[in-house]
Amino acid sequence: MEKHNAWKKFTWEPRIAYFSMEIGLSAEIPTYSGGLGILAGDTIKSAADLELPMVAVTLIHRKGYFRQQIDRDGWQREFPVEWNPERHLELLSVKTLVPIEGRDVKIQPWLYRVKSPAGGVIPVLFLDTDIPGNAEEDRHVTDYLYGGDLEYRLKQEIVLGIGGARMLNALNFNIRKYHMNEGHAAMLTLELLSNTRGRIDDPSEERAAWDLHRVMEQCVFTTHTPVEAGHDKFPWDMVERILPDIVPFSLLKQLTGNDAFNLTLLALNLSNFVNGVAKKHGEISKSLFPGFKIHAITNGIHSFTWTSPFFVQVYNKYLPGWANEPEMLVRVDNIPDEDIWEAHQGAKAFLFMYIEETTGQRFDPDLLTIGFARRSATYKRADLIFSDLERLLAIGDGKLQLVFAGKSHPKDLPGKEMIHRIHEKIAVLKDRIRIVYLENYNMDVAYRLIPGVDLWLNTPVRPLEASGTSGMKAAINGVPNFSVLDGWWIEGHIEGVTGWSIGPPPMEKSTSSNGDNHEDAQDLYRKLENTILPLYTGNRAGWIRVMKNAIGKNAYYFNTHVMMRRYVTEAYIR
Ligand SMILES: *Cc1c(COP(=O)(O)O)cnc(C)c1O
Repeated sequence: MEKHNAWKKFTWEPRIAYFSMEIGLSAEIPTYSGGLGILAGDTIKSAADLELPMVAVTLIHRKGYFRQQIDRDGWQREFPVEWNPERHLELLSVKTLVPIEGRDVKIQPWLYRVKSPAGGVIPVLFLDTDIPGNAEEDRHVTDYLYGGDLEYRLKQEIVLGIGGARMLNALNFNIRKYHMNEGHAAMLTLELLSNTRGRIDDPSEERAAWDLHRVMEQCVFTTHTPVEAGHDKFPWDMVERILPDIVPFSLLKQLTGNDAFNLTLLALNLSNFVNGVAKKHGEISKSLFPGFKIHAITNGIHSFTWTSPFFVQVYNKYLPGWANEPEMLVRVDNIPDEDIWEAHQGAKAFLFMYIEETTGQRFDPDLLTIGFARRSATYKRADLIFSDLERLLAIGDGKLQLVFAGKSHPKDLPGKEMIHRIHEKIAVLKDRIRIVYLENYNMDVAYRLIPGVDLWLNTPVRPLEASGTSGMKAAINGVPNFSVLDGWWIEGHIEGVTGWSIGPPPMEKSTSSNGDNHEDAQDLYRKLENTILPLYTGNRAGWIRVMKNAIGKNAYYFNTHVMMRRYVTEAYIR
């Protein structure tokens, strides 16, 4: 009975259902690979703080993404992440069914409660097909995040979308909006559509028998991918073999195109509100998908989660209440310079301890330390700073230190070669510029790495960084950004005030890349040599000014509290 009442807390009021293939809540629950998943986790944490009525749906990913080791020769090695769902999550006794490839596949949910110190609780459901009675291959569908082949991905997306919508129904949730975090979850629209069958009387035309508008009213879609090739597509023969025909394939072809089953098009066609994840990315998405109205809501980070303990203490002292109202960081000038500097030195020492423990290298707390960590995809250009080693040495010999980290997707060979190339440069520069590559970049590593460096470097090929969020994690810890003008940084950058740009300004309306490697590298070296190093070494007060501006002009705004208020007013309640 008590259990029943506890559940009613979740089901008595209509909720927003947030669907994401990956959710990163903590390093112990390894069901995320990078920015998309951590954004989802941060979104849910802010929703809990703000007591928004939400419920989140994802997959259990029993074998996680992967654990990264780097071998002696600088090549990435991958190992499954062993984690025990029972230790973190509660198995619920409800089950639901989805037909896949003609077989009924049972799904069970694991519950995690995201609890805010402010009182809010958001249930997160992790869907799992590893149930006795399911065919052996179906039991593995929810094992690997972004593992397996295209068929495996299609099956996972059926479980997430159709299975997730059915699961919410089986658990008695009353859902007022469905929010798809990227196209992976788009198949939830099929379940909604199939529930509208017969609502419209005129069966003469197939499309008319299904209430598309009823589904659109319920759906919000956030697209994250700025390139055509990045969007999920499946060949129709595969789809017709695997996907249950809860909606006629002929109608699906009208909605997503005859060439392939394109989940982005499905979500676009069946959502009343669609957005990109930064202003620039909204523009890019409009030109990728002409004819659709696409808004922009810039991503954020959950402020408390990403603030190092050293800065938490300072903020608590001078700006009490900041964690649930990050806008207060606008008053950062109330914090004395010495407190800012001391907190940063604490975070730096905390990182350097970790570096020494994991690599045996001893870093110098007095040197300008640059950080670069993110998924190792080639467009992120982790090696741009190594374009001209002579130049880098001339600028940085004895004055600079670098910390890298990042995993490459196991099938991304160019990404792995990038990791290898960086290790070659580390060896070449040894004894002149100290550089480490920390293994297994995850939320724990990020939490130590980002606040502990002095400058956060980001060098993506424009316009491929849809938003980027690690730079926001830097800002809230008083670490200025030094970044190509792309994604969120176009909105956060004030030259010499909040940090520094690399390369030319973004081109208006352009979707194509501007600026080349050479031009960007030259600008990087020029600013590092003439502006950044002299400020860091010669003008402590000037440097702290920039640190404070990162907090007061970037971190106060680029967070998931602000972002969620925008989703509520612009997407959820309209
Ligand atoms: C924040 C974060 C990311 C995303 O960083 P970007 O700069 O947006 O690429 C990826 N991985 C981890 C572990 C993170 O903490």
